Amino acid sequence: MKNVIVTGGSRGIGKCLVENLAKEGYNVILNYNKSEKSARKIQNELKENGVFIEIFKADVSKKAEVKKLVEFALKKWESIDVLINNAGIAKLQMLQDITEEDWNEIIDTNLKSTFYMSQEVVPSMLHKKSGCIINISSIWGMVGASCEAVYSISKAGMDALTKSLAKELGPSNIRVNSIAPGVIDTDMNSNIDEKIKQEIKNETPLGKIGRPIDIYKCVKWLIEDEFTTGQVISVNGGYVIN
Ligand code: NAP
Repeated sequence: MKNVIVTGGSRGIGKCLVENLAKEGYNVILNYNKSEKSARKIQNELKENGVFIEIFKADVSKKAEVKKLVEFALKKWESIDVLINNAGIAKLQMLQDITEEDWNEIIDTNLKSTFYMSQEVVPSMLHKKSGCIINISSIWGMVGASCEAVYSISKAGMDALTKSLAKELGPSNIRVNSIAPGVIDTDMNSNIDEKIKQEIKNETPLGKIGRPIDIYKCVKWLIEDEFTTGQVISVNGGYVIN
């Protein structure tokens, strides 16, 4: 069965990806940074059902920690088949309030992590002449979000990296795609009040907010697919249609 690393697997979309991929029989490493308790709980609950995963703490915004995470994976497994760059943060801020620290934190966590993880994992994929990288970007990288300039830039950067690596790595049978979710019900959106959520639903052709499982279904399809690369697939209920 394939070996999968999910960054930011301790909560939200990443947690759902870890749980479902592990139940499907994939070998999974759940990467977390701050939420150790949650990572252990996921591991223990899966274990109670006879499903085993590895967990590994690493701040993926830091190259040295990314290296340790990938070294850990390659000690466990001979190869890494699937990399899911999911770890991410968002901040709502007006342009004039954004500090250099804010810029660095968001770009490092969302974009540089994706770049570093790819750099570390790709040699193993090249060796095997096979691999799948999935970058969880966002609709806001496609259309821009008001008061989330840096977040939007980071996600657009992930999509550019996806397209660039798809061209570079396609001849080696490594597929690289982005999934650009719309609004998904996770901690990241816990600050959105019910009135705004209803407005978003009203503006969404499918009339609902997304769930992490909606992203998992697309991930599973991309892992199994053999002829899709360099694409930004937006799972958003029709909220953004290009
Ligand atoms: P979430 O519930 O806030 O969870 C974020 C996850 O990222 C947590 O597991 C967190 O781990 C991890 N993380 C953050 N910084 C990290 C770091 N430096 N190193 C390692 N892990 C780190 O967010 P979510 O909604 O599931 O979002 C997952 C991804 O989907 C993000 O990239 C986000 O931008 C994208 N997305 C979300 C939505 C949405 O509406 N929810 C829409 C579009 C795109 P710890 O808690 O352990 O630190």
